[in-house]
Parts: sequence; C-alpha cells; structure tokens
Amino acid sequence: MDEIDVDPDARTVHVEPGVRAGELHEATQQFGLATPTGSADDIGVASSTLGGAIGWLRRKHGLGADALRSVEIVTADGERRTASPERNQDLFWALRGGGGNFGVVTAFEFDLYEIGPGVMTLGTFYPANHAEDVLKSHRKFVADEPDELTTLVLYGHVPPLPPIPEAAHGTPAVGILGCYAGSVEEGEDVVAPLREIAEQIVDLSGSMPYVALHELDSALFLEGRNYC
Ligand SMILES: Cc1cc2nc3c(=O)[nH]c(=O)nc-3n(C[C@H](O)[C@H](O)[C@H](O)COP(=O)(O)OP(=O)(O)OC[C@H]3O[C@@H](n4cnc5c(N)ncnc54)[C@H](O)[C@@H]3O)c2cc1C
Repeated sequence: MDEIDVDPDARTVHVEPGVRAGELHEATQQFGLATPTGSADDIGVASSTLGGAIGWLRRKHGLGADALRSVEIVTADGERRTASPERNQDLFWALRGGGGNFGVVTAFEFDLYEIGPGVMTLGTFYPANHAEDVLKSHRKFVADEPDELTTLVLYGHVPPLPPIPEAAHGTPAVGILGCYAGSVEEGEDVVAPLREIAEQIVDLSGSMPYVALHELDSALFLEGRNYC
C-alpha cells in the first residue's frame, strides 16, 4: 500500500495510503513537481489529506484536499467506489476534510504543480521581547504578500537544531517561518523585509531543497508529542 506513480506529462500522481509526505515529495521532486501536503515529512498522506493537509503551498495552490482529483475507497457496505468531481460527488466533497469517517481509502490521485527543487525558505528568530514589533510587522506585510509566499509565526524558544549555534538553543524567541513557491531569487527579495524587523538571534533563511524543508519541519516537532 505504499506505491507512488508519477505521471509528469499529465501532472498527476497516484498514491497508495501507506505513503508519508516525505516519500511523496521525494518521488515527485524527481520531476520538479509537488502536490500540497502537511508541512512535516513523517505524517501520513492519507490521514492528513482526509483532514485537509495544510502546508507550505497553501496560499499558491491550496490544501492537499484541493489538489485531489479522485479517491478510491471501500465504503462501510463493502463496496469499492471512486469519488471524484464526476462520480459520487457528495462522497468526494465529504472526503476533502471529513477525516477517516467515510470508509477505507485505497488510493488517491492528486494534481501536481511546478515547485523547486530549491525553494526560498524563511527561518528568522528574534528575541521574544520584540514579539509586538514582529507580530505587527508580519501582519502588515502579509496583507499584501504575493500568493507564492506562505508564512507562519512561532512564539516559544529557539529549537535545538544542528544548524543553530548551541548557545542560542532554548532562548525565548518569536520566529517567522516561510516558503516561497516560485523562483529562489524572487523569493529572496520578497522575504527580505521579514528578516530585518529587529536584531535576530539566528537567521536560517535561504535556498533549501523542497524535500529538506519538510525534514526540518519534522525536526521542529518533539518526538512523541501529539499535534492536531
Ligand atoms: C508532527 C506533526 C506535524 C503535523 N503538521 C501538520 C501540517 O503541517 N498540516 C496538517 O494539515 N496537519 C499536520 N499534522 C496533523 C496530521 O495531518 C494529522 O494528525 C494526521 O491525522 C496524522 O497523520 P498520521 O500519519 O499520524 O495518521 P494516522 O494515525 O495513521 O491516521 C489518523 C487517522 O486518519 C484516518 N486514516 C488513515 N488512513 C486512512 C485510510 N487509508 N482511509 C481512511 N482513513 C484513514 C483514520 O481515521 C486514522 O485514525 C501534523 C501532525 C504531526 C504529528
């Protein structure tokens, strides 16, 4: 149940339900393509898509559920059905956000979009006492930001990730994370104002493989914690 079949000409991918987000990106990025998933690489494509799948392409291409073309499902009466905009439309509507309540999904087909392989990412951490400035600047900025840019703000501590100097680990911080779903050069210019709000503790922003962005996101979540 973990097959991935990419059709680069049709820009679609057929995915079985045992596949995780990182495996899907590895396969589609061979062709410079991606479909929206949740932002961490180790979450299941099936469960996250059925719940929506809110990730780094959301402002440009929507959620994972928006990229769904069709679903193969075994419903509670034991019947195999296809749900799509053409067939069993009410079931298709319910599956795009209704969770695992309508049967066992055996395959998904998604649209693919041109992404990467490198994307401009934002990972700027400011001291927590600048939170008011950072939040106000971010709110003002996002009112007019291009659809290619998706950002989120974190309030907490600098995470203990290897690229960050150990001395900074655990420092109270407000961070802005983001991904630009367009050219890296364009993205670098677009995100520049979000990197200059105050003196940073650490700035991890830069070009990164789209696949690595999802690996980094998994590392940000502590093992064993349950999210969403
Ligand atoms: C670290 C972390 C980061 C996350 N980040 C994001 C994010 O960025 N964006 C986002 O949208 N969500 C995110 N989530 C939430 C995540 O999408 C949901 O918690 C998802 O349900 C978890 O995936 P799983 O692989 O653990 O699911 P599982 O525990 O394997 O499944 C959860 C449920 O999904 C249903 N399900 C699974 N497979 C099928 C199937 N084949 N047919 C029918 N129903 C099925 C069942 O109801 C099952 O109980 C995150 C979760 C975690 C733990």
